[in-house]
Amino acid sequence: MKYRAVIIAGLFGAAPPYAAAADWNALPAGVPGLTRTAPAVSAPERVRTLVCVDAGHPNTFSAGTSPVNGTNETHINWLVALELERLLKEKGFEVLMTKSAELQYVENKDRALLCNGGGAALAVHLHCESTPGSGFALYYPDRQGTFEYNDDPDNGFKGPSPQVRADSRTLAAAVQKGMKAVLAGILPDRGLYGDSRTAVGSSQGALTFSIFSKIPTATIEMAVLTNKNDAAYMKTEAGQRKMAQAIAAGILNYKNP
Ligand SMILES: [Zn+2]
Repeated sequence: MKYRAVIIAGLFGAAPPYAAAADWNALPAGVPGLTRTAPAVSAPERVRTLVCVDAGHPNTFSAGTSPVNGTNETHINWLVALELERLLKEKGFEVLMTKSAELQYVENKDRALLCNGGGAALAVHLHCESTPGSGFALYYPDRQGTFEYNDDPDNGFKGPSPQVRADSRTLAAAVQKGMKAVLAGILPDRGLYGDSRTAVGSSQGALTFSIFSKIPTATIEMAVLTNKNDAAYMKTEAGQRKMAQAIAAGILNYKNP
């Protein structure tokens, strides 16, 4: 508990004063201490959205560091998250990362609280699967869930709202479409599913960060890391870059349908 509180304080401490504003248009003029640089795109192309990029491990359920085909999930998630951060900024987005180092531990509930509290307009959670098959899959909260964590003060908390669920489905479908276009012929589309299809979601009704999310949220299983071909691709810089491009294309689809 103590450890978790320190992480939140640290990340919020570094948050800029405009954190409550998800939209550039909503920024008050002349905010003191505003240090961010202008996006490297012309004004008409600017998308004006703060995106929360969540590299999914180490988390409440798994460190994600078990060796898989010469790499591990935490490592791949992190490298793609960094590339996605760079790319989204290049495209005019603001980016909020849920962690600042590859092996930083963040509880799943706190991932949502960080994205909500940081004023993000949407959140993408990056993961890789260990399952038969190959390719990417998208998940969104398809029903209300109940947080089940006996020693947490929020035990029994219910969410997300119907609006967040509807918007999350739209976001996940938009990301799926973008990924399908960019990854055509490279990684197959394994589908769009409700959180309730996942192991945790089937017991809680939704994934933990979905339950606490106040903004559209999509979980991206980028590839099947236990599949040799998927792993070989995701281990290359070119593969990580392409994956980030695919996710960014999906986010652009969502903002500009
Ligand atoms: Zn994962």
